[in-house]
Amino acid sequence: MTDHWIPGRPLHMLQTLFPIPEYAKVCSLMDGHGHWNEENVRAFFSEETVELILQTQISSHGGEDFVYWPHTRFGLYIVRSAYNLARSSDFFLSHSKNGRGLSSSKEVEEKYWKAIWAIKAPNKMNIVLWRFAHNCLPSGLQLRHRNIPTNPACVHCGRDESIEHCLLFCQFASEVWNKVKKRFYIHLCRKNFHSTKQWLFDFIDRASPEQSTVFAITVWHIWEARNAVRNGEGNIHPHRVASKIHAYVDLVLLHLFKTVAGHSHETPSSSSVKWSPPPPGSVLINVDAAIFSNLHKLGIGILIRNHKGECLVACTEPLKGMVQPKLAESWALRQAVILARDEGLTSVIFASDCLSLVQRVNSSSIDRSEVGVVVSDIKRLVACFSSVSFCHVKRSLNAAAHILARAC
Ligand SMILES: [Zn+2]
Repeated sequence: MTDHWIPGRPLHMLQTLFPIPEYAKVCSLMDGHGHWNEENVRAFFSEETVELILQTQISSHGGEDFVYWPHTRFGLYIVRSAYNLARSSDFFLSHSKNGRGLSSSKEVEEKYWKAIWAIKAPNKMNIVLWRFAHNCLPSGLQLRHRNIPTNPACVHCGRDESIEHCLLFCQFASEVWNKVKKRFYIHLCRKNFHSTKQWLFDFIDRASPEQSTVFAITVWHIWEARNAVRNGEGNIHPHRVASKIHAYVDLVLLHLFKTVAGHSHETPSSSSVKWSPPPPGSVLINVDAAIFSNLHKLGIGILIRNHKGECLVACTEPLKGMVQPKLAESWALRQAVILARDEGLTSVIFASDCLSLVQRVNSSSIDRSEVGVVVSDIKRLVACFSSVSFCHVKRSLNAAAHILARAC
């Protein structure tokens, strides 16, 4: 227990609710069958730490303990990554005075601020998002708060114009979001709104990179539409704003996500736009995961179809707990592999819209990242198939599995 065994949690930050004997080992918190003993974990650790522990994967086939380097994709140490780390501001912050580093909540916040800047959208849009999170866009109420003489009413509906009203709750914004949500499966969970910052952080947690991009683009367009009315440049119908957003998103996804797809030499169908059935004798298995952060659970959707496009199996599986999206996707894929094995299928093609996962599964590199254990399970499990491949598909081509996952 004295090792650094919880990803993302420095040793000196780990505190137990009760003293744990020095000789206790981490395996005493497991059930011996490849799962955590949740009751034991909850008995000793705070809620926040419990979540981190339960998210940590245990290999179902045992295996050696190893040290993992969190600063590279596959968890393997390379000198260049250490050099980059030493040059980064993170390093100096975490090695600040007296070596104590940032408090855990500060660290978590840092992670989210970085995630906002990392959203693949034009800078001007990320800046609006950044100001949204800091609650410092000049909405009517904000201006009044700063004693700037202005009309604090919403330009669309006349209510008090807070930032969240303007961008999320106003009827105008709602109509834009409804159109955007339908096309990109975005879940705003507006009823969980408490503050702009917390709400945006929650959103980023459950959104894919593409959804974060769509979000940034939508927020910017709603804000611009509001500015246009306020500056006397005329009204625009929310549906027209939504159409502009759709066109913009297509453009941005095409250009900003193209380079990623370009490197994915092992993802044969990443460029295909139309669903096509697998060759005769094979089945195509679409898989997806959905995270319900407010319900503290996730859903897995798996759909198996034959070469005629007929559905052989459609299943949904709810799982307890909260994990990062890429971990949820890897769990979903592992479940799909187990299902295919149990169904006695021999020639299978798995399709996921999580590009990084598909790349990991297709890679021969050792993966010691947080999803590495699941990836390793998947690689072992597929030995039972006579033919197997993993391909990346666009979200739109994975819609059926997505709907199943959301139905949990
Ligand atoms: Zn309004």
